[in-house]
Amino acid sequence: MLKLVCEWCSSSKVKSISDSVFWELPDGTRAIEISETPTLSCPDCSMIYQTEAIIKEIEDQLFLIDCQQIGKVIPYEELMKIPRLLKRNYFDFSS
Ligand SMILES: [Zn+2]
Repeated sequence: MLKLVCEWCSSSKVKSISDSVFWELPDGTRAIEISETPTLSCPDCSMIYQTEAIIKEIEDQLFLIDCQQIGKVIPYEELMKIPRLLKRNYFDFSS
């Protein structure tokens, strides 16, 4: 496990927790709640946030999957398990 440092105040007391985040879908039609998302919580500056890497993963995933199948709430790990549409398209093209 990498040693965590707060992105805001560089405190080494920052802790890795799971939290819910609300996310607007790329098409802007609605927002979903992603539960159990890897989140950092810093006792020194009171910031609770997701790292850039996690934010990028969520954005990429929502962009590449069929968002219609997502309910109002989905756990982070389940969201990441949804197969990406582009992968299937790519597979079709290469066959
Ligand atoms: Zn901090």
